[in-house]
Amino acid sequence: METHTEIREAVAKLCAGFPGPYWRALDREMAYPTEFVNALTESGYLSVLIPEAYGGAGLPLSAAAAILEEVQRAGCNGGACHAQMYTMGTLLRHGSEAQKAAYLPAIAEGRLRLQAFGVTEPSSGTDTGSLKTTARREEDHYVVNGQKIWTSRAEHSDLMLLLARTTPRSEGMKRTDGLSVLLVDMREAIGNGLTIRPIRTMMNHATTEVFFDNLRVPAENLIGEEGKGFRYILSGMNAERILIAAECVGDAKWFIDKARAYASDRSVFGRPIGANQGVQFPIAKAYANMRAAELMVREALSLYEAGANPGAEANMAKMLAADASFEAANACIQTHGGFGFAEEYDIERKFRETRLYQVAPISTNLILAYLSEHVLGLPRSY
Ligand SMILES: Cc1cc2nc3c(=O)[nH]c(=O)nc-3n(C[C@H](O)[C@H](O)[C@H](O)COP(=O)(O)OP(=O)(O)OC[C@H]3O[C@@H](n4cnc5c(N)ncnc54)[C@H](O)[C@@H]3O)c2cc1C
Repeated sequence: METHTEIREAVAKLCAGFPGPYWRALDREMAYPTEFVNALTESGYLSVLIPEAYGGAGLPLSAAAAILEEVQRAGCNGGACHAQMYTMGTLLRHGSEAQKAAYLPAIAEGRLRLQAFGVTEPSSGTDTGSLKTTARREEDHYVVNGQKIWTSRAEHSDLMLLLARTTPRSEGMKRTDGLSVLLVDMREAIGNGLTIRPIRTMMNHATTEVFFDNLRVPAENLIGEEGKGFRYILSGMNAERILIAAECVGDAKWFIDKARAYASDRSVFGRPIGANQGVQFPIAKAYANMRAAELMVREALSLYEAGANPGAEANMAKMLAADASFEAANACIQTHGGFGFAEEYDIERKFRETRLYQVAPISTNLILAYLSEHVLGLPRSY
């Protein structure tokens, strides 16, 4: 598997143009990093996974992982746009030739954004099979009713991949059957049955709740076969988890670098604080755990690129990397003492940002439940 050194260097250079003050100003206003996302788009980084035939770079997943890791490592935040890299995978793998030709080149060129992903609902949570949003077929279109929550970047996306129930649940039916994926063109939908309401969160993440009130979606926007949507969404989850894990490794590296530099620099009682084992050991431990998580990300990537279905490795990479990034965040804030809480150090911002990944896109408990059941053969817990 390639390490993508040149891509990493180029991304680091791009990110240097977006230093801490840029992110702090956005954070205060909860504003979207438009200039940063435009710069990544124009440089082609968000379309590396789109095949060359559709105008992308056709690179393997490890290239996308390298890009996102470097973004986080530079102190930037890929959360504003990372989904663009993996949501298009559902369209690529399961969309028709006409759909792919209609959308992928425009996404690759940066003319269209597909970075909203409507799965989670307020009442169903992790239990996707019990989602309540419905899409009822009427002649040449679907009529969508319901609500999604935590639909991130919806205000900054042209298209949304929506998972909705097209067949009512009945006795004996698998709970995840009867769900379908629709590609919603939000440019036409807003004000015509689609309402987006921003949610303020502890970090600047442009997340929203989305309401559907008799929204009409052309039947030709159904991805793949009706009723098989859950499988299509699942098929993209390994890539999503591996990429989020790479981001967490990048975050951990940023925190460790910051902590190391400060611990060597800051003198208290006439010597650097980093000379105290009570200060250096948490940083060293965070480093060891980051390296272990990084190895699991690599393992997941090489299996993925060899065509395997590395569900266990992708999940473990995501869990270990999210834990490592938060452990590093905690060590970093502690190393900085009071200054760790000051906005101008960027640590408290990154601390808030990286905490998300123990909950989204899948929470640690659900990963442990997956490993228990599918790897260890323990009885299913839910
Ligand atoms: C900022 C942000 C952005 C997001 N972006 C998106 C997005 O773009 N699109 C989208 O569709 N979703 C998005 N999500 C939703 C995210 O995927 C969910 O929050 C996550 O999957 C957890 O679901 P939940 O919040 O409903 O928690 P719940 O399912 O209600 O779970 C609550 C807690 O209970 C635990 N729990 C639940 N069931 C079990 C069980 N059986 N065993 C053990 N523990 C259990 C969970 O681990 C969790 O800690 C986002 C969330 C956030 C916060």
